[in-house]
Amino acid sequence: MRFDETELTAPILRAVAEMGFEEMTPIQAAAIPVVLEGKDIIGQAQTGTGKTAAFGIPLLQRVNPKDRSLQALVLCPTRELAIQVAEEIRKLAKFMHGIKVLPIYGGQDITKQIRSLKGGVQVIIGTPGRVMDHMRRHTLKMETVKTVTLDEADEMLNMGFREDIELILGELPEERQTLLFSATMPQPIMELAATYQKDAELVRVVKRELTVPKIEQYYYEVRQKNKPEVLSRLLDMYDPKRALVFCNTKKLVDELVSDLQLRGYFADGLHGDLKQQQRDRVMEAFRNGKIDILVATDVAARGIDVDDVEAVFNYDIPQDDEYYVHRIGRTGRAGRVGTSHTLVVGREIYKLKDIMRYCKTKIHMRPVPSVNDINTIRAEKLMSRVDELIAGGELRSMTEIIEKHMEEADCTALEIAAALLKLSMGESSETIMDEGLDMSEGEGKAARVRLFVNVGKKDNVRPGDIVGAIAGESGMPGQLIGAIKMYDNYTFVEVPGEYVDEVLQAMKNVKIKGRDVHMERANKGGKSEDRGSGRSKSGKSGGRSTKGRGKSEGKR
Ligand code: ADP
Ligand code: MG
Repeated sequence: MRFDETELTAPILRAVAEMGFEEMTPIQAAAIPVVLEGKDIIGQAQTGTGKTAAFGIPLLQRVNPKDRSLQALVLCPTRELAIQVAEEIRKLAKFMHGIKVLPIYGGQDITKQIRSLKGGVQVIIGTPGRVMDHMRRHTLKMETVKTVTLDEADEMLNMGFREDIELILGELPEERQTLLFSATMPQPIMELAATYQKDAELVRVVKRELTVPKIEQYYYEVRQKNKPEVLSRLLDMYDPKRALVFCNTKKLVDELVSDLQLRGYFADGLHGDLKQQQRDRVMEAFRNGKIDILVATDVAARGIDVDDVEAVFNYDIPQDDEYYVHRIGRTGRAGRVGTSHTLVVGREIYKLKDIMRYCKTKIHMRPVPSVNDINTIRAEKLMSRVDELIAGGELRSMTEIIEKHMEEADCTALEIAAALLKLSMGESSETIMDEGLDMSEGEGKAARVRLFVNVGKKDNVRPGDIVGAIAGESGMPGQLIGAIKMYDNYTFVEVPGEYVDEVLQAMKNVKIKGRDVHMERANKGGKSEDRGSGRSKSGKSGGRSTKGRGKSEGKR
C-alpha cells in the first residue's frame, strides 16, 4: 500500500516522501488505519519492519498542535532507542507546525529536561525509569495523555520494567488509547495487554515464506582489505550492464563509492543521509546509464525499482537472512538473467551457511578471478564480436591491407591478429605488474591512487623503467606498485595511497631515459586517459581501467 492512498494529512505525506518511503511496510499498512480510528492495538512484527512509523504516524496525526499539553507518551526500553524513536518521529513531524517531540532518558541532566518540558511538549519518548522520575516530581502531567505506546514491549519486560510500566499506565487517564508493539508475544505481554488495553486489535505480521529468485548465486572467500580489489575484478569479469552493490553502513557506501570512482568506474551511492533530491539524481543517472554501478545500503535500496540489474554484489554479507533475499531479488527480474556475488570474510561463512539453510538455496563457492581470467574473458568477448564481423562480411578492404602488410613486414596473419587483439584489449592486458591482491599478512594494501607520468612509449620507456625509477627514488618496494598503463606519450601508474606523497616528492627532478619526469595525481588537472586511448563507453571491453574515465573526471 502506498502512503498517499491513505487518510494521512499532507504534512505527514510530505515528510514520509522526504524520508524516502514509498510503500508502507506490512505492519504499517495493517496498523496505521486501526490506530487512526482510535482503537487499541497489539502490533507484532520482526525487528526492522518499520514499527516506529507504524505507531508514530497515526500518533502524530491525532495530536492537536494548538494544544500545548502532553498528548502522547512512548515508552522505550533503552536510551538509544528513545533517541532513535524521537528522531524518527521528529522527521515525521517535520512539516507539522507547533509540534514538540522530546526524548527523556536517564543519564541526561534532569533540570534541563524539566526546562524543556516547561516549554510545552506534546510528544514524549522516554525510558520507564526516567518517566517515573518526572512523574514523582510532577514535572510530567499525565492527565492530558491521549495515547500511550509501549515500544519493544518484550524488551522492556525482559529488562525488568514491568512494575514501572504498570505504575505509569496506572497514572494515565482511563479514557486513552494504548498501543503495544513488540517483536515477540510471550505470555507476560498478553497479560499486560489484557489488563491495560480495551478491545485491542491484534495485528501480526509473521515472517513470510521467502521465495528466492532463480538466479546463479556465488560467494568468494576474501580478506577484508582485499575487498575493493576483489570487487573490481568481479566487475571487470562480469562487466554487468547495471550492478547493485550492497554495503551494511552509510560510511562504507561512501568509502566504496570514492574507491570505485578512483579506479575509474561509473559508480555512485545511495543511502539514508542523502536528500531526496540527491537520491533522485543518482537514481536517474542509474536508470539512464550515466552510472552503471550503484552502491547502496539495504534501507536506501528499498525504494529502488530498476528492472534490468544484471548483477548484485554483497560487498558486506547482509545482517539479516531476509535482506539477502531482498538484495538478490533486485536482479533477474522480468525473466532476465542475473547473478549474485557475495564477499565473505573469515567467520562470516557461518552466516552464509545460515542464509543457505534459511532460504533453502545454494550459493556456490568461486575462486577470486585472477588478472589472467579477466583478460581471457575480455578476449573472448572481443572474439565473439570478431565472429559477428566476419559473419557480416564486407571485410574486403581490410583483408587487402593485411595482405599487403604481411608481404611488406614479412609476418604471418596470426601475428597480425595477435597484435591487433593486444591493441584492442588495451595495454593493461600485459602491463599489469602484479596480481594486485596482497594475500600475505603484514603491510595492509590501502586504496591505490593513480598517478600520471608524462613519459610513455614514444619516449622509449618501458613499465620496468618506471617501476625502477619509483622504487629507486622513493624507496617504496617495487612490488607495491599496482597496474601500469602505458600510452604513447604518458603513463598511469597506481601506488598505495600512503606512499603517494613520498613518491611525488621523490620523483621531482628525476629523469627517465633522459626525459624530465613530471608526476601528479591522475585525477587532478584534467589529465584524462581518453586522450590517447580514444575509447568510449559504447566500446567498453570490460577493462576497469578504461571504463568511465571521462565522467569521473567531470565530477571532480
Ligand atoms: P522496527 O522498530 O520494526 O525494528 P524501525 O521502525 O526502526 O523498525 O524501522 C527500520 C528502518 O526502516 C528505519 O530506518 C526506518 O526509517 C525504515 N522504514 C520504516 N518504514 C519504512 C518504509 N515504509 N519504507 C522504507 N523504509 C522504512
Ligand atoms: Mg523499533
